[in-house]
Amino acid sequence: MHSPYKKNFQAAATQASNESIFDSELSLLRDVFKLLPAGVTVQDESGEFVLMNDAGATLLQRATTAGTSSQLSDRRETCLELLRAGRPAVLEEAMAGSPTKQVFLTSHRPIRIAGRDFLISSSTDISEQKAFEDHLFRSAYYDELTGLPTRRVIEHRVDSLLKYDNGQGRFALAFLDVDNFKHINDYYGHTVGDALLAEIAKRLGLDLRESDILSRISGDEFVLLLNPVESIAEVEEFIHFILQRLKAPFFIDQSEIFASTSIGVSLYPEHGRSYEVLRQNADIAMYRVKNDSKGDAAFFDASMEREALARMKIEQSLRLAILEKRFCCAFQPKVDIRTQAVTGVEALVRLRDDDGVIQAPSTFINLATELGLIDELTHLVLAEIVKSIDLINETFGADITISMNVAAKQAGNPDFMRPFAEALEATGFPQRFMIEVTEDAFVTKTHIQDEILPIFRKLGVKISIDDFGIGYSSLSALADITADEIKIDRSFITDIHKRPRSQGILRAIESLSEALGMTVIAEGLESFEELAYLQAATKIRYAQGYYFSKPIFLEDLRLASPRASEARGNITSRPAPETRAAYSRGGSYRR
Ligand code: C2E
Ligand code: MG
Ligand code: MG
Repeated sequence: MHSPYKKNFQAAATQASNESIFDSELSLLRDVFKLLPAGVTVQDESGEFVLMNDAGATLLQRATTAGTSSQLSDRRETCLELLRAGRPAVLEEAMAGSPTKQVFLTSHRPIRIAGRDFLISSSTDISEQKAFEDHLFRSAYYDELTGLPTRRVIEHRVDSLLKYDNGQGRFALAFLDVDNFKHINDYYGHTVGDALLAEIAKRLGLDLRESDILSRISGDEFVLLLNPVESIAEVEEFIHFILQRLKAPFFIDQSEIFASTSIGVSLYPEHGRSYEVLRQNADIAMYRVKNDSKGDAAFFDASMEREALARMKIEQSLRLAILEKRFCCAFQPKVDIRTQAVTGVEALVRLRDDDGVIQAPSTFINLATELGLIDELTHLVLAEIVKSIDLINETFGADITISMNVAAKQAGNPDFMRPFAEALEATGFPQRFMIEVTEDAFVTKTHIQDEILPIFRKLGVKISIDDFGIGYSSLSALADITADEIKIDRSFITDIHKRPRSQGILRAIESLSEALGMTVIAEGLESFEELAYLQAATKIRYAQGYYFSKPIFLEDLRLASPRASEARGNITSRPAPETRAAYSRGGSYRR
């Protein structure tokens, strides 16, 4: 090949190759632009799109479906405005017309190319991130179940009312607590419980004014701000109206549920000048209603404050008593009514108060449970039993069972029951123990039956259902409970010989227990007539009650009667006067 020709050819080839490099670069650029993950659009001076990549087209398509036409024309106006001003901007663009809210974060930049103005916009879909942020915001300020504002919102609202009050403002704060909600929840299950709360919230929310706020502050507790109010009478009337409305039955999941609510009300400025004090005083008034009749309302007054103070004093002394271990145990025998042998004893806790007076558990057990002190108390009772075991064996016999009471709340709590089982094992004689739990513990949907009881059973610890017949369980619920003993509540035993209805119930419990292999024991047996009835008309073998012995302090027994050991392991159905006297001396605690 001649060289000029060759030269030309080379030049042509170079040019062609440059062109093809340019072409391929251009095509690469086009592909990159097309496939950029961010949506990129270019608009001309009149707002028309002159370039758009795939992601841009998709986003625009979504915005067109999600947004209303006015949202879209607003967006176009904004773009034109930016173009005219030559100003860049980063904007969050929400298209809220469709069921799912679409949010885009768009960066707009006006540019000038070859004497023409364009707007380059790059958008990212941040809908998911925004939805999550919204969710976080809502869960901080709104209750998920009822959709009501949370405690923070109402507190904030009251604070600002107080801040801007010019001395003329008057409002009411009502504290509402659903009665027996725990039982409803346990009985019907949490789903129904939740639905009930949502329904209650709905009924409470009816007829509120714009300026009132209803808030759910925890579980079954609501706070209602009524603002402004003119007079007490007006508040009374409205609260009464709410009470009536809540008393009507709720229809949930094919169940007709009756739920009442207790309400306490405080007024600003009479009953406090801060949210905390007003809420607390409304709470105190509500507490009074709970203790009285439930399902009613009360306004706060000074006497309630005194009452609350007295309660706080009891709380303090209970905490102190636990700290100083001022507890002791009285023991009450369980008797075989055929042989009169003592087959077990029940340890019943007593508190020595600040003045040395002995208090029965009715004065402090519920409070101890409420205050979370009961677990410690139970361990103290166990320690007392271990300390007295020689005396227990000496007084009642070395093979009798020792019953301890455990509150229903404790029984369903593995964090208490596991270490408690370990403590029983550590005594070295766990098989001597029987745990008495009220039937409520079994109807609640806890893991007591499948998780907790097996641990105790493995140790040889027995289980008794205490106060049977007065709780919320039905006879059919009994079939699911694997216990060793059923204690029939005193209310059925009192005057049993004269009460055919109680006799019928007793027969039913008796045959069911027999079928389920549980021992039946009657508690609160006080008279010879009651005993005679049990012996003649039932197959019940065991009983416990003042007729045989009141709960006794072992030390008292030893001090009072050197012959107490004669009574060991046996109590006659008509105890010898000195034995009865010795036992009943133990019952000299204040009841
Ligand atoms: P409970 O376990 O049902 O105990 C029976 C209660 O009836 C005891 O009252 C006992 O003194 C009383 N009682 C026994 N026989 C008769 C009788 O014939 N007539 C009458 N009127 N009463 C009789 P106490 O000792 O006042 O205990 C009350 C409740 O306190 C117990 O009922 C039990 O639920 C609870 N309790 C006692 N000690 C403890 C404890 O250590 N832990 C827990 N969690 N609760 C305890
Ligand atoms: Mg008991
Ligand atoms: Mg009982």
